[in-house]
Amino acid sequence: MKYGSIEYLYASPIARAMIDDPSFRRWVLSKSEFAEFAEARILNREISAHRANLTAEWWRFHFTEKCRCDGCSGKETDLFTIFENKSSLRFALHFEVKQPQDKFKSDGIQSRGYPLRAQCWARKPPAKVLPHHMASTGIFFSAQKRKEYEPHLAHFKAQITFEEIEQQFPHLAVWPR
Ligand SMILES: [Zn+2]
Repeated sequence: MKYGSIEYLYASPIARAMIDDPSFRRWVLSKSEFAEFAEARILNREISAHRANLTAEWWRFHFTEKCRCDGCSGKETDLFTIFENKSSLRFALHFEVKQPQDKFKSDGIQSRGYPLRAQCWARKPPAKVLPHHMASTGIFFSAQKRKEYEPHLAHFKAQITFEEIEQQFPHLAVWPR
């Protein structure tokens, strides 16, 4: 199986649960820079409607070829979400999903790009991205890779392991174990 399709086995149930499972959504938000807005609603429908791409799932394939900044050039956010709090403040979370067999390239270009892209899109969203006021980053990864990923982890504010999800939300951890 290709890396991309293994990644999907992790990313897809996580994206699904962000919509379907309010306790999971709150838990993820509570680990992010936007912990104070853990009750925010998720804007998956608005993301889809704005993007008007009938084939892509709302959370996948978010990138732009238009901006050539270090955050955007040739880079993609694995799992892209936008939330709205009670004051109509909209914030995005750009998540990297690193399935356990995957690795970061040592040049650090991919991990460094995440916070740059998050801020770039909050300032001036690409045409297909729903406008939002603030943005941050996160990563879903295996605890077994913590040491290997250490040089990259600081670029991701919300750090969540698959093992934590398996323990706390076993019903949604449907990936191969
Ligand atoms: Zn950019």
